[in-house]
Amino acid sequence: MQTKRLMNIFLFITTFCLFLLIYIWYNSYIFNHNPLSEQINKKIKDKTNRLKNLSFYNYKITHNFPIIISDKLKNNEFGRTIYSKNKDIIIYLNKNRFKENSDYMINSVLPHEYAHAVMFYLQDFSNENGSHTKKWQKICENLEGKGCNRFVNNNDIIIEKTNLF
Ligand SMILES: [Zn+2]
Repeated sequence: MQTKRLMNIFLFITTFCLFLLIYIWYNSYIFNHNPLSEQINKKIKDKTNRLKNLSFYNYKITHNFPIIISDKLKNNEFGRTIYSKNKDIIIYLNKNRFKENSDYMINSVLPHEYAHAVMFYLQDFSNENGSHTKKWQKICENLEGKGCNRFVNNNDIIIEKTNLF
């Protein structure tokens, strides 16, 4: 009798774990095969408008920097700003990193990259400390960024990017 009870408990736990696993797989599959949710897209749009207003207020910049949500960035890369051969300035955000923390992506990574875009726009291509100069930091802070630390290891600025994207 006791053995049977244990057996049932064991079966219950195994079944539960199996369903949990399937549920996690399913969610991950859905995330990977769909664009970001409307809610997150709206947050990105609102933040972008805020950044645009701040860069106008501080630097009189009215330019729209395209922001592209991409799943082609390296997995450990949160964002990347490029200055292309035909002088386009484009901000890429790693779609996969939105999975675990969308607020970090929107409030830290996006303003951080936006500050790089402003630097490019102002024709400042200084690459001191991976382009995280004091001027970049000031811009990042003026854009209300939460990730304006100059000495974090960021490999996120590329001039004349290859055809990766
Ligand atoms: Zn950076």
